[in-house]
Amino acid sequence: MSTRKENVDPAEIAKFESMASRWWNRQGEFKALHDINPLRLDYIRSRSVLLISHVLDVGCGGGILSEALASLGAKVTGIDMAETALSAARYHMRRAGFHICYRKISVESLSETEPCRFDVICCLELLEHVPNPSSVVTACSKLAKPGGNLFFATINRNIKSYIFAIIGAEYVLRLVPRGTHSFKKFIKPSDMQRWAQQAGLSFRDATGLNYNPFTKQYKLGGNVHVNYIMHFSKSE
Ligand code: SAH
Repeated sequence: MSTRKENVDPAEIAKFESMASRWWNRQGEFKALHDINPLRLDYIRSRSVLLISHVLDVGCGGGILSEALASLGAKVTGIDMAETALSAARYHMRRAGFHICYRKISVESLSETEPCRFDVICCLELLEHVPNPSSVVTACSKLAKPGGNLFFATINRNIKSYIFAIIGAEYVLRLVPRGTHSFKKFIKPSDMQRWAQQAGLSFRDATGLNYNPFTKQYKLGGNVHVNYIMHFSKSE
């Protein structure tokens, strides 16, 4: 069940709440996010200015990306709907010595109170967990300053992504816990592009994020058949 205003699936939040104590265990359920973090950070920093910029991390979880952005001098706000994820994020932030503003608020609500506030918006690995992903894209667009950069990462929807992201990642290689993803919530790049365009964003780039089971390494670049990141900008 989700309300119109809060575009949230309670079952998804419960799933992330139950794993909250393990956000910073690099060998635990969130290992894959830790492993891909340097790659996605490189992508974001190569396409935007982070130093002293206001950066919003939408669906920040335990703060894996938020802290990395803060370490590069960004003024980071992280939002998530899982309270225990935010507690884990705050706890880790204090110990690591960062200043990040973590808030439990939906992106749609924040877009009503703080429009045009952020230079950079990161929404990574979130869209495939919400009932209405296009509403998140629209809210992110509202939150961006004119000229701001927006990054969305999610999983494509096709037979190959079913085999790699569900069967391969959840059952064979166990890269992420079983039940992490639901195939029907995966998002085609063409849908992402359409939602972004409807929200007034311009397409800048798309890149794949692919796992090699033989080297056990992730790599940025190549096809967008499974995991991908897209970069958009808001018109001046
Ligand atoms: N973006 C982070 C975490 C991805 S896991 C990263 O890539 O490192 C997905 C996160 O989205 C979880 O923390 C979960 O609690 C959060 N989430 C799920 N539905 C949400 C919603 N509707 N609004 C905000 N956060 C949500």
